[in-house]
Amino acid sequence: MTQAVQINTAMCTVAGQGVVNGYAIGKAAVMGAAALEVPHYYIDATAVESERQRLFRAMDKARDDLQFVAEHLPADAPREIAPLLEVHRLLLDDPMLRDQSAELISSRLYNAEWALTTQGQELVAQFEQIEDAYLRERSADIRQVIERVVLVLNGQAAAPQSLTADSNASEGGLIVVARDISPADMLRLRKGRFAAFLTDLGGPTSHTAIVARSMNIPAVVGLGHLRRMVRDGDMLIVDGFKGVVIINPSEQVLQQYRQLQAQHLQQREQLSQLRDTPAVTVDGMRIRLEANIELPLEAEVAYEVGADGIGLFRSEFLFMGRPDLPSEQEQFEAYAAVVKAMQGRPVTIRTLDLGSDKTLDGEQTVATNPALGLRAIRYCLANPELFQTQLRALLRASQYGLVRILIPMISTMEEVYAVRAALDQAERGLIADGVEHARHIELGAMVEVPAIAIAIEPFAQNLDFLSIGSNDLIQYVMAVDRTDAEVADLYDPMHPAVLRLIAHTINRAENYGKPVSICGEMAGDVRLTRMLLGLGLRCFSMPATQIPAIKQEILGAHTEALRLKVATALNRAERINLQKLH
Ligand code: PEP
Ligand code: MG
Repeated sequence: MTQAVQINTAMCTVAGQGVVNGYAIGKAAVMGAAALEVPHYYIDATAVESERQRLFRAMDKARDDLQFVAEHLPADAPREIAPLLEVHRLLLDDPMLRDQSAELISSRLYNAEWALTTQGQELVAQFEQIEDAYLRERSADIRQVIERVVLVLNGQAAAPQSLTADSNASEGGLIVVARDISPADMLRLRKGRFAAFLTDLGGPTSHTAIVARSMNIPAVVGLGHLRRMVRDGDMLIVDGFKGVVIINPSEQVLQQYRQLQAQHLQQREQLSQLRDTPAVTVDGMRIRLEANIELPLEAEVAYEVGADGIGLFRSEFLFMGRPDLPSEQEQFEAYAAVVKAMQGRPVTIRTLDLGSDKTLDGEQTVATNPALGLRAIRYCLANPELFQTQLRALLRASQYGLVRILIPMISTMEEVYAVRAALDQAERGLIADGVEHARHIELGAMVEVPAIAIAIEPFAQNLDFLSIGSNDLIQYVMAVDRTDAEVADLYDPMHPAVLRLIAHTINRAENYGKPVSICGEMAGDVRLTRMLLGLGLRCFSMPATQIPAIKQEILGAHTEALRLKVATALNRAERINLQKLH
């Protein structure tokens, strides 16, 4: 599936799956898993000396800590410990680590953590080449020493300043090259300004792809062994449309891509002029276009592009990438901020969807198959205290506008009843505590477990709205792990079984007068817009940055004509030919 094509010795093209359209030209920032645990940002040129001192102080502190441990070893400590501690202390004084990391701060304006982990990886790679097994194993010591210093740096972490991608890279900034990027790592990375994301693993609905889409940053996943082929600082071109990466391109290729990039930016600019145009089809059908967000700040972007509301706020992102849980007050403030930013437009907040590929810091899932295990609503019902905190915060936020509570991974009506009971309990608690709140809420379910799509009636009857989570629905219908690049070609949003379930859900919900949206990645894929209109979809929720392109497609579509074209193929369980929908 993934292939590398050698063009000449200097230039090389690697193909993967493009998951966020767009072009990027920039220098590679190659990251190992540990390196992703640290913030990456450029410092201001005026801050070089203080950043170098921050690094030295942290290394000194780590060395003093080790000294202290060595001097206070318990009498029964294993004999090997003392010499190992000595090795670590020596490493902290080694100019190859100390001075060379400081040099990266001066020459590349990397922050201390970034400089240290970059230099550390370089040393680890050198040690791993050594034939002598004892010396080779010292690479693990380097990693441990670096982790120790990073911990100290985190304790005294300086705030990222002057996040300018252009300050040090010749073209549009740095391009992250990683084996994989966990959702928590993406959270950290979004603090920097990166030009593109490239990963060896992952598929179109992996969370790397989702978060990159919300940031509108070109991304290609499933690139096989790219990380091993690229060195830090290599020039890269990323073509998110074709899903290819060109390493060390020739000047001629660079010129072509600069042109393509300029045209693309111009088109995007034109689309942004549709902001205040309502999404109405040729036959007069008003279509709702809502936004998916991961963090409260993104609500402002959603409002700016003219979103009709928030169709999915993935609240779990408030919980990830931190050692503690957000308090009720912190959650209330986050939810209220989104509700206020949307100025009266409805806000759909999904309760915690943890346990599969998204986990809390330090929490390892022990399930044999986490995607089928104690995730999402199952996890919340098993952790009532955590769930109550979130429900209380949601009820408090609903004082400021309509909050639609969306429950992920519902598979039985019993779970719906349990959620209602939990909501009643949260409200009683707020009343008893005299805390201001409202019950200006609606309750809805994600349709992502095939069982509820097939037997949707009681859910449509008892709930206020439904939202199809096509990312998971496809994974469960097709029995294909959405994060596994090896089987990405089997992950098929166009499979007639998937489309029948979507059409069935929309059709039955309509019978009960309940609105239904799609909030999975399908809704933001402009190639599928006409087909989804033909299946009866009237509400799409997607990354805010996709809204203008989808609106443009809707403005030229005729729903009734599309319905007729789609119906025949669906009845015969045939694949729908997207070309014929134009
Ligand atoms: C989905 O499953 O389609 C969805 C929107 O939720 P997530 O991608 O966060 O699982
Ligand atoms: Mg889901």
